[in-house]
Amino acid sequence: MKRPIIKPRSPALVVGAGFGGIATALRLRARGYRVTLVDRLPELGGRARVFRRDGFTFDAGPTVITAPFLFAELFELFGERLEDHVNLLPVEPWYRMLFDDGSRFDYGGTMADTEHEIESLSPSDVDGYRNLLAHSKKLFDKGFTELADQPFDSLSAMLRSVPDLVRLRADRTVWDVVSRHLRDPRLRQAFSLHPLLVGGNPFTTTSIYCLIHFLERKWGVVFPQGGTGALVGALGDLMQRVGIEFRLGETVERVDIVDGAAVGITLDTGEALDGSPVVMGTDPCFVYKHLIAPDHRRRWTDARIGKLRSSMGLFVLYFGTTRIYPEVAHHSILFGPRFRGLLEDIFEKGQLADDMSLYLHRPTATDPSLAPAGHDGFYVLSPVPNLTAAIDWTIEGPRYAEKILDRLESTVLPRLRNHLVSCFHVTPQYFRTELLSHRGAGFSVQPLLTQSAWFRFHNASEDVRDLYFVGAGTHPGAGVPGVLSSAKVVENLLLERERAA
Ligand SMILES: Cc1cc2nc3c(=O)[nH]c(=O)nc-3n(C[C@H](O)[C@H](O)[C@H](O)COP(=O)(O)OP(=O)(O)OC[C@H]3O[C@@H](n4cnc5c(N)ncnc54)[C@H](O)[C@@H]3O)c2cc1C
Repeated sequence: MKRPIIKPRSPALVVGAGFGGIATALRLRARGYRVTLVDRLPELGGRARVFRRDGFTFDAGPTVITAPFLFAELFELFGERLEDHVNLLPVEPWYRMLFDDGSRFDYGGTMADTEHEIESLSPSDVDGYRNLLAHSKKLFDKGFTELADQPFDSLSAMLRSVPDLVRLRADRTVWDVVSRHLRDPRLRQAFSLHPLLVGGNPFTTTSIYCLIHFLERKWGVVFPQGGTGALVGALGDLMQRVGIEFRLGETVERVDIVDGAAVGITLDTGEALDGSPVVMGTDPCFVYKHLIAPDHRRRWTDARIGKLRSSMGLFVLYFGTTRIYPEVAHHSILFGPRFRGLLEDIFEKGQLADDMSLYLHRPTATDPSLAPAGHDGFYVLSPVPNLTAAIDWTIEGPRYAEKILDRLESTVLPRLRNHLVSCFHVTPQYFRTELLSHRGAGFSVQPLLTQSAWFRFHNASEDVRDLYFVGAGTHPGAGVPGVLSSAKVVENLLLERERAA
C-alpha cells in the first residue's frame, strides 16, 4: 500500500538518537519530512551506544533483543530488508538463571525445553507455567498488539480501555500474578524478572508487563552479529541513504515556543534550528523541567514531576578477560540470597546492598568477534538506587565494582581478577550527566499502573502544541520494543494532525 505523504519537505526536528529517536526520524522521513536528528553524544544509539576499548566491542545497554520485526519495519519503509544488513542470531538459552542454593534454570528454546527445565526444579509447576503463558497471551493481545502503537492521549481512549484493564486485572502486580501460577520460590523469581528490564520493581509493576513472557515466546530472543551496535550502525547507514541529517555532539538547551506551539530548538551554542514538529526522544522529566520555561507548562509543573516515581538506577561494569569461559551462557542472571528485601533496598530504602543480584552478559558466547582472539567480553549489570538516594558514586562506584568482582569470582568466573583486562564502569551519575536522565534513572519513570498509558507522559505534549515525545518515558514505555512502538504512536499522531489541518 502506498503511504500518504504528510507534508512534503517540511522540516522536522528529532532530538535524541536512541532507538526511539532513530525510529521516529525514519518514520517521518518516509512520510516526506526533511528530518534533522540531534544528539549530544558523539555517536548514535543513546543507551544502545557502543564502547570500543582495547579490541573489545562493548554494547553499553540493550542486549536482549525481542520483537525484531519492529526493526524490520523500519527498513521496509524504504523498500529494504533488515536481513540484508544485519544478521540476527538466536540465543540459547534466552537466560540462564543461577540461584543462590546452587540450582539452575535454563529458560528459552522450545516450550518442551522450558517445561523440561521447570519439571526438573518443580514438577508441580508445569501446569502453572502453561496457565501463566495463556494469561500472558491475553495481556499481549491487548497490551501489545492492540495498544502499544496507539496514542493514549485522550481520557476517552483511557476510559475505553478500562473494562479490559479491569478484566485482565492490571491492578495486580507482576509478582502477584506470577505467584498465583507458580509455587516454587525460584521459579517465582525467574518469571518475575521482566519488570526490571523496563525499570520496575516486580512487587509494584502492573501485571500488564507479564505480556513479555508471551512476546519472548512468540519471537524468541535474538542477538545481532556484531552486537546491538550493529543494529544501530545499520540504522545509521539507512538514515544516511534516505537523507536524514545528523547533528551529533550537540546539546539542545531549549524548545522554542511561539503562541503555545513548538517552532524549533536552540542548542547550547546559541544556534537556533527551526522545525515543526519537534519530537523529543529524550527524558520527558528533564525536557519539561529544563528545556521548557515554566510559563509554558500547565500540566507538567516541577511539583508534578517531583511526585513521579523514577525507575531504579543501573551500575554496569564492562570488562574483558584473557581467557574464555565457555561454560558461561550468553545471558546469565545470578540471584542473591534475597529477592523482595533486595528490591526494597533498591526501590524504597535507597540502600546499596552487598548481596546484589546480577545480570551477566557474555556476547562472545554468540559472537566471538566482539573480543580479540582467545578473550571473552562481558558486562555485568546491577540494579541500584537512583540518585534520590544519598550515595556518593565517586566513592561507592569503585568499591561496588570490587564487590561485584568478588561475587563473580566466587560464582561463575573463578580467578577472574587474574585474567581481567579493560575494566570500567558507569553509575547512575553517568545517566544523569551524559544522557540527561532525571535522577539518573536507568529507564525514565517507573512502569506503575498510575504512571502508564494515559497517566504517563503523553506522546503529544499536553502543554505545548506540535511538541511530541518518543522513547522510554512516554507510552508505551521503556525497553527496545516499547520505544520502537512509541515511534509508531508519534507517526499516527502526526497523521491525525495532518488530517485535522
Ligand atoms: C544497561 C542497560 C541495559 C538494557 N537492556 C535492555 C535489554 O536487554 N532489552 C531491552 O529491550 N531494553 C534494555 N534496556 C532499555 C533500553 O535500552 C531503553 O529503554 C531504550 O534503549 C531507550 O531508548 P530511547 O530512545 O528512549 O532513549 P535513549 O537511548 O536514552 O536515548 C536518548 C538520547 O537523548 C540524548 N539527549 C538527552 N538530552 C538531550 C539534549 N538536551 N540534547 C541532545 N541530546 C539529548 C541522549 O544523549 C541520548 O542519546 C537497557 C537499558 C540499559 C541502560
